[in-house]
Amino acid sequence: MATFRQKALDEAALHSGSRFYAEEGPVSSYFGRNVLDLDKMRGYMSQQAYEAVLASAKFGAKLDRSVSNEIASGMKAWATEMGATHYTHLFQPLTDSTAEKHEAFISVKDGKAFEKFNGSALVQQEPDASSFPNGGLRNTFEARGYSAWDPSSPVFIMDGTLCIPSVFVSYTGEALDTKAPNLKSLHALSEAAVAVANLFDENIKSVKVNLGVEQEYFLVDESLYNARPDLMMTGRTVIGHTSAKDQQLEDHYFGAIPSRVSSFMKDFETEAYKLGILLQTRHNEVAPNQFECAPVFCEATKAIDQNMMLMIIMQKVAEKHHLKVIFHEKPFDGVNGSGKHCNWSITTDTGVNLLSPGKTPTKNLQFLSFYASVLRAVHRHHLLLMASVATLSNSYRLGGNEAPPAVMSVFSGSTLYGVFQAIMNMKDVKESVESKQESIKIVNSIPEIFPDNTDRNRTSPFAFTGNRFEFRAVGSSQNVATAVCVVNSIVAESLREFRSYVDALEAAGEERSSAVLAVVRRFITESKDIMFEGNGYSKEWEEEAKARGLRAVENVPDAYEVFNEPATVEMFQKVDVLAPNEVQARFEILNETYVKKLQIEARIIGDMCLSQVIPAAVRYKNILVENIRGLKNIFGDDYLSYCRAEMEALKAISMYINNMSSDVELLVEARKKANRIDNIAQRAKMYSREVKDMMERVRESADNLEMLIDNEMWPLPKYRELLFF
Ligand code: ADP
Ligand code: MG
Repeated sequence: MATFRQKALDEAALHSGSRFYAEEGPVSSYFGRNVLDLDKMRGYMSQQAYEAVLASAKFGAKLDRSVSNEIASGMKAWATEMGATHYTHLFQPLTDSTAEKHEAFISVKDGKAFEKFNGSALVQQEPDASSFPNGGLRNTFEARGYSAWDPSSPVFIMDGTLCIPSVFVSYTGEALDTKAPNLKSLHALSEAAVAVANLFDENIKSVKVNLGVEQEYFLVDESLYNARPDLMMTGRTVIGHTSAKDQQLEDHYFGAIPSRVSSFMKDFETEAYKLGILLQTRHNEVAPNQFECAPVFCEATKAIDQNMMLMIIMQKVAEKHHLKVIFHEKPFDGVNGSGKHCNWSITTDTGVNLLSPGKTPTKNLQFLSFYASVLRAVHRHHLLLMASVATLSNSYRLGGNEAPPAVMSVFSGSTLYGVFQAIMNMKDVKESVESKQESIKIVNSIPEIFPDNTDRNRTSPFAFTGNRFEFRAVGSSQNVATAVCVVNSIVAESLREFRSYVDALEAAGEERSSAVLAVVRRFITESKDIMFEGNGYSKEWEEEAKARGLRAVENVPDAYEVFNEPATVEMFQKVDVLAPNEVQARFEILNETYVKKLQIEARIIGDMCLSQVIPAAVRYKNILVENIRGLKNIFGDDYLSYCRAEMEALKAISMYINNMSSDVELLVEARKKANRIDNIAQRAKMYSREVKDMMERVRESADNLEMLIDNEMWPLPKYRELLFF
């Protein structure tokens, strides 16, 4: 067999499951050990310093520089006790990953070594902004960027380094990361939601977003991974024939977890627990070697930071197990891809989930106000919401007859949907409606609601699941901050409108509850087109969505144009989340990233075809030629009747080799032509139209050759080898 592949398979066969990170005692005894939470902090600083952190963490108060030295020295004391030697600001640049620059605590003065970490090092670092995507926000003469501690996220220790969660901004203050705008969006949402919630309860002072992030991923043996240049460079297989058996038997989902995988899971869970990440579920997913884990939901910033940490930990722990975690949304053709479902809800400081239907009519009116505002937000900005998850990698999944469809819609469940129909049909808001459905009684014009939590629709990109929305279209490799920031911002805009419409009606003499119900009815009626209860993967829905005027992501760079539309730019500005130049920068970066990633994929597929596939095919061709020549020697003119299969194979292989080599040439040309286009958005469009198509054609020849060439000679681990432990 091709030596590289054989070696990889031999090595993979030796890899087995064992634990590396077992801890003594119950999980509760080490849960959160590596995090310096507010409680622990109290023991490392004065009451005054502690209160300053508390005010900053809880209420966003500015941290007074005078106490920052004391806070820093408390953190240093804790970190060094825990064995840390370095510290780093950990920030989330616009690359969907995290960035860190480690500095040692160690310092020497007058020949004496000591650990040094002061307030200014805690509060601010200066990474070179020019090495991160900035979309033109950074002046060429001013490369500096600043990372600044976000006190609402606790510091923690990973790999002997004190990690300080930070925002990353340019010299002139524009956000160069995903965290800063997200913090702003949470603030905007809180303000707007409080204004609406105060219509029902004056005591509500703040509202927070809760997030539960379900993470899907694939696992691949490290040796096999190393034998696949495409997986290594792009996170997905750019060629590879589907396996005879993949997910058709539906025997993997929720099946027994293979022991090797289970040791890996237990190990990364142990590490996650030490970082205070409350992982709760683990199970097999639909595709072979695909799995999922989910923590218990928590406050949004923490949930996002923890998801980023989790991805890092999983990769690190996987190394010990000779595994690679594949976070790419579509690593393998023909089997399901991976997502990162974002369960999103909003709760008040008085402990009320605003998306939970209540038992009393007033509570329900409050629920309906929030629900209707979300509906309106998603309807108005449906393309923006989809574009916020439309990365190149996620685009291989979007609309591919699996989660998620390429067009946005909201699933409410039959009970709620019935309530909305009833509200829309009310001639007068004061009129009482008695619905036929037993569960829906509209008493005093206000519906009583008992939504069925088991009512699930897995084909909906944005589904209501009883007390929260599940944004299911987010990609598994994405930093969810981007998508969550869009959700928060558009809902904030919508809630602001809600309150102002109610105010206007009240000013005109309308009584409060009927004013509220009138606005609910208006929002629902105006947004009804976004509601869809049926099969989101069906052809009929695709057509109906079009007829309803819903815009789908048919082509990723085309969809990015939504960032240039006034409705988007104005919305972000109104809620004070992103200034127009920051939106513009994101538009540029999205296009730039799309082009770069596709360029790498196009190069890799060309390289693999020319240097691995074609040479193997030629070697096998030579064997066939030898064979046919021999048969001709033996049988003379009659030889054809003895080698029909060999002749057919020879012809087919020759044809695919020819096609492939000319398609690779065309692919290179398409790439070069696109690269000559200066405008990045136009270049991205050209890449998506021409380069992507050419890659498909190259792949087709490669996958056909894989079926024709002697298995022994095929140089790359096959799907059946990659996908099953
Ligand atoms: P499923 O796969 O059925 O959607 P999972 O248990 O895999 O369910 O994940 C559900 C996620 O939703 C978990 O992270 C859970 O903590 C989270 N969640 C539950 N209730 C809420 C809520 N009110 N707000 C936000 N997230 C929630
Ligand atoms: Mg799930």
